[in-house]
Amino acid sequence: MSDHGFEAVIGLEIHAQLSTESKIFCSCPAKPPAGRSVSEVKVNANTCPVCAGHPGSLPVLNHKAVEYALKAGLATNCKINLRNWFSRKNYFYPDLPKGYQISQYDKPVCENGWLNIETKAGPKKIRLKRIHLEEDAGKNVHMAGFSMINLNRASVPLIEIVSEPDMGSAEEAGSYMRALHAVVTYLDICDGNMQEGNFRCDANVSVKIKSAKELGTRTEIKNLNSFRFVEKAIDYEMSRQIEVIKAGGRIVQETRTYDASKNITLPMRSKEEAEDYRYFAEPDLLPLVIDPARVDELRLTLPELPEQKRARFVLEFSLPWYDAAVLSSSRALAEFFEKSAGILSSRGLDGKAAGKSTANLLIGEVTRLLNEENIVIGESKLVPEHIADVVQLLEEKAVSSTGAKAAISAAWKSGHAIGTIVERDGLRQVSDSAVLEPFVEKVIAAFPDQVAEYKAGKVKVLSFFIGQIMKQTGGKANPALIQELIKKKLS
Ligand code: ADP
Ligand code: MG
Ligand code: ZN
Repeated sequence: MSDHGFEAVIGLEIHAQLSTESKIFCSCPAKPPAGRSVSEVKVNANTCPVCAGHPGSLPVLNHKAVEYALKAGLATNCKINLRNWFSRKNYFYPDLPKGYQISQYDKPVCENGWLNIETKAGPKKIRLKRIHLEEDAGKNVHMAGFSMINLNRASVPLIEIVSEPDMGSAEEAGSYMRALHAVVTYLDICDGNMQEGNFRCDANVSVKIKSAKELGTRTEIKNLNSFRFVEKAIDYEMSRQIEVIKAGGRIVQETRTYDASKNITLPMRSKEEAEDYRYFAEPDLLPLVIDPARVDELRLTLPELPEQKRARFVLEFSLPWYDAAVLSSSRALAEFFEKSAGILSSRGLDGKAAGKSTANLLIGEVTRLLNEENIVIGESKLVPEHIADVVQLLEEKAVSSTGAKAAISAAWKSGHAIGTIVERDGLRQVSDSAVLEPFVEKVIAAFPDQVAEYKAGKVKVLSFFIGQIMKQTGGKANPALIQELIKKKLS
């Protein structure tokens, strides 16, 4: 987006929590037991002297976390630094028990990658500057008049993925964040849960006159934990900066926060106050030396990635690029699609037609339901058989498109089989001329004026008749058949 010759420049720093069993420098659990949420874990239950920062305790690196970071780097075309190291980032904050965060600074584990994103103007390549490993901080819990500190999250492994300032609009930033989210969830190195903050974004935003070579001063909007918030916060921040500059002011480099209820960004702290971290190499850990043979092994274990899946969907099912992009944006949705399509082809239905019809239902009705309840497909009662059954009924013209939606909605709520739902709710489309003929005769008798119009050549009144009959049959009549019957009657 641009405004009066200005354009935006955006770079994102994304934190992804790695879904390892244990923390990055100790053996404490890094996540709640399966099926439980973070809030169900007793406060400070997952802590030990290492992650609680007791003097004299020593960190021991979790190699699973390293492996996950390497996978992220390989999937985003990064160079792997076979010799890299950790650094201390020193600052005071109550949720940081050691008084420093162990992170990576001058030598991150991965550098100089790239990722293709989808934009309205076509695909675009976004460069990644670095991916580094670090530990998360704890959490301050504010009570009435005092605060407590929960260290369950302290030392949970994170990767921070830093892009180059290659995005030019909120749309591109949102698309990049979605693409990266898809990559880490496909790799199964991060659960992608944004509500819990397991995938979150800091957005760096500046504006400049289009023709200017030099970048403008940037602000950083902290901790955006939804795709929509990233887009809205950037849009707001762009127009705020343009207004400041047009009014003759200048942008100060600062950290800002996004207030979603008001849709504005507000200053948090200026850069000068905040960032003198006195980084130095972490003396309690050896440099991290990675065996190149291990990197090659990991490369071979990478799953099919979103971009590859998208290309295959286009080839295999002749899906439009857009449909393939939407389906492959979520691993769960893509797998659901393939299972439904597989069921249909095992029943002997034409793969391509069935594929398109399956994609339509998933992108339309199912996505609508997912958004409405803000859940992912695995959390619903819907299974691939449901969609396969609906597609088959549509192909056989046994349900209308309205009936198909109603059947999916009902299966969504109850999980019951489509066959049962269709019979129970009377969704089967009536394609029996013996049943429909009386309706046709009644309508023709009731609207002599329209019949005259039709006979005078106004073919458009056909849809009037069809509408009348649909109304009388509760939407169950097969519209193609009604049309045929009316034409025959009036010819
Ligand atoms: P720092 O070391 O101060 O954190 P970096 O150079 O690592 O700065 O950049 C941090 C993030 O800010 C990166 O994602 C980068 O792309 C982005 N960035 C840097 N300069 C600008 C700018 N002028 N406008 C927008 N984003 C920027
Ligand atoms: Mg930074
Ligand atoms: Zn611990």
